[in-house]
Amino acid sequence: MSTDKSVARAARKEVVDFEGKLIGPEDADYDEARKVYNAMIDKRPALIAQCSGPDDVAHIVAFARDHDLLVAVRGGGHNGAGLGTCDDGVVIDLSRLNGIEVDPQARTVRVGGGSTWGDVDRATNEHGLATPSGIISTTGVGGLTLGGGLGNLTRTHGLSIDNLLEAELVLASGEHVKASGEDNPDLYWAIRGGGGNFGVVTSFLFRLHEVDTVIAGPTFWPVELGAEVLSAYREFLPNAPRELNAFFAFATVPPGPPFPEEIHMRKVCGVISCYVGSEEDGAKALAPLLDALPEPLLPGTAPMPHPALQSAFDGVYPAGDQWYWRADFVKEIPDEAVEIHAKFGAELPTWKSTMHLYPIDGAAHDPSPSDTAWSYRDAQWGSVFAGVDPDPANVDVIRQWTVDYFDALHPFSAGGAYVNMMMDEGQERVRASYRDNYERLARVKSTYDPDNVFRVNQNIQPQA
Ligand SMILES: Cc1cc2nc3c(=O)[nH]c(=O)nc-3n(C[C@H](O)[C@H](O)[C@H](O)COP(=O)(O)OP(=O)(O)OC[C@H]3O[C@@H](n4cnc5c(N)ncnc54)[C@H](O)[C@@H]3O)c2cc1C
Repeated sequence: MSTDKSVARAARKEVVDFEGKLIGPEDADYDEARKVYNAMIDKRPALIAQCSGPDDVAHIVAFARDHDLLVAVRGGGHNGAGLGTCDDGVVIDLSRLNGIEVDPQARTVRVGGGSTWGDVDRATNEHGLATPSGIISTTGVGGLTLGGGLGNLTRTHGLSIDNLLEAELVLASGEHVKASGEDNPDLYWAIRGGGGNFGVVTSFLFRLHEVDTVIAGPTFWPVELGAEVLSAYREFLPNAPRELNAFFAFATVPPGPPFPEEIHMRKVCGVISCYVGSEEDGAKALAPLLDALPEPLLPGTAPMPHPALQSAFDGVYPAGDQWYWRADFVKEIPDEAVEIHAKFGAELPTWKSTMHLYPIDGAAHDPSPSDTAWSYRDAQWGSVFAGVDPDPANVDVIRQWTVDYFDALHPFSAGGAYVNMMMDEGQERVRASYRDNYERLARVKSTYDPDNVFRVNQNIQPQA
């Protein structure tokens, strides 16, 4: 815990050219500024540096190094494990770096390193365009992209990193560099999945695709049909066209509109789908799943602007809830695993708790496991078990359900997990998640951050 006021004072004195805002424990806005999305994370940095641009970032990196202070980098602050902040060190807060420039002719968007996806989705949708992001609009572009980026367009257009054309970074040395196919290609390879290990990304350039109105929404069945629905889904999804994105979920129907009152708070299972194309083709794409199952409780797909889908669940998941989650990559879901899912899915401990299976096929399978740092191109799904509740008194309950669910299914997993959905689970788990790419990542790390300045992340340790 930081009661140390001297760090912020020293920063104000020494970092004379700083154009953003420096906030220390004595400042009135300190408690607001140190909050992150997951209310289970309660860290007290010695300094929060809300940077205005790359030069600010470089000044603060140098200051932190001079004073031997731990450095955390905060994009959208959504990380479940709280890796956008730290105790006693310096938080490089990028929230002011949130500019967005769409180039409709070139079909690209340049995005500040501290932007959130909702702003990007809205800006690109004005031109009928989009780039793959996640499923909740308040998530940071920075963390989501650097860890990979799974979402409602993955099967159609790949992971977020598959659409990352270039990035600008401030390195641990303070140097400003570009990473792209031409500039520092080893760095470009590493940041596509390797997280915030290599530097602070101050801007991203993404490829855009024609995605405007999508045919999207939830299709839910009673949770009692969990095994039947999941069995049908595991057969259906791999054969579905790329234009269809459909993640499986166990969830509780939220207690409010637009959901019909008679099903409020019902535990359900089903898919949240997003078809990129016409309503008629979307219906055809989903039909084999619907034909294999009884009438759903909620047939919820409808045409909607892409940003409306991306923000549809923001109201259910505002900042400030308690989150505890675990994740695994999955290649197949055998019958035994289906039964385990059905059991835990029926026992969701709180109404916001959920389990998702995010598809990792279609366009996400186009690159090979070594084309980018993101190794699990041969997985079929990324599973995430998320215990969520607003009440801190329920932390133990949500944690226990999550860990028990994860433990029961881990034997059926592919080994590693999506780093963006891990808690702080140790080095072996990080290695398992990068597999054969880990050694190369460690070499790139020793080139760009040999002293491991950027270590508040799923850490790749520099090669000795
Ligand atoms: C409600 C919710 C929904 C989510 N949905 C999805 C989803 O649909 N798809 C998906 O793939 N993931 C999803 N995630 C996981 C998400 O990708 C990770 O939590 C990610 O770390 C969030 O990024 P952030 O910038 O908001 O986080 P932060 O907490 O700010 O940062 C997380 C990590 O990224 C690093 N980082 C962030 N920005 C930069 C930068 N510009 N330069 C260098 N390092 C940086 C930080 O140092 C830290 O290690 C979700 C998370 C939540 C809580």
